[in-house]
Amino acid sequence: MTPSDRRPTATGEPAALLADAARSLADHLRFHQALGVRDLPLRSDHLAGPEGALGTLEAGIQGCARCKLSRGRSTIVFGSGDSHARLVFIGEGPGEEEDRQGKPFVGRAGQLLTKMLESVGINRDEVYICNIVKCRPPGNRNPEPEEIAACAPFLGGQLAAIRPGVICALGAFAAQTLLRTKEPISRLRGQIHGYGDAVLIPTFHPAFLLRNPGPAYRRQAYEDLKLIRREYDRVRRASSTTPA
Ligand code: URA
Repeated sequence: MTPSDRRPTATGEPAALLADAARSLADHLRFHQALGVRDLPLRSDHLAGPEGALGTLEAGIQGCARCKLSRGRSTIVFGSGDSHARLVFIGEGPGEEEDRQGKPFVGRAGQLLTKMLESVGINRDEVYICNIVKCRPPGNRNPEPEEIAACAPFLGGQLAAIRPGVICALGAFAAQTLLRTKEPISRLRGQIHGYGDAVLIPTFHPAFLLRNPGPAYRRQAYEDLKLIRREYDRVRRASSTTPA
């Protein structure tokens, strides 16, 4: 079911509107639950729109010492992009350059990501980009379960604030974490997975594509991006025709 399918039927009846609002709230909470979020850092400024909600979350993460990744980081890499984006990209965790600059996907992998987006006519500024964990794991190792759990309320809060229609998981780690599966990326990619009110489409991590430069993986990544583009267009069409 897509977000637009769930939109209120707007009969004008107060009881029907209230029932729609309750259904939306339940969907919203299930979305968090599917992410493994148990505590939501919700405050009234979340009602101020996605910028306000993201700003509150980002302020709340400053100085974070919820897990041991805090000890080795230079900067917290919260996320960047359009807070109204319908499309969100989620990577694994900041690398060296991201840790230095405090922005996600700004190193070599990030430059390739920018080109991948451009190959299907998407500008980086129109999407939102973040990671499963916001601090660099030492030596770029995979984040550990406690680290993922410590950061989950922030990722959950970001998705709750933005409410994207399409999420792209970049690489095996992000895809397996978000979908709570051990299936290999080769099986997860190229498929549309339900994810709360959104759809989630995994593809190869750009760093993997840099390490494996043959045409076969690039071709598959391009197929995934075309699928992402198609879903992104569908979601944007739906939101432009749905009354607020
Ligand atoms: N790899 C990631 O998974 N995220 C980044 O931000 C950079 C590299």
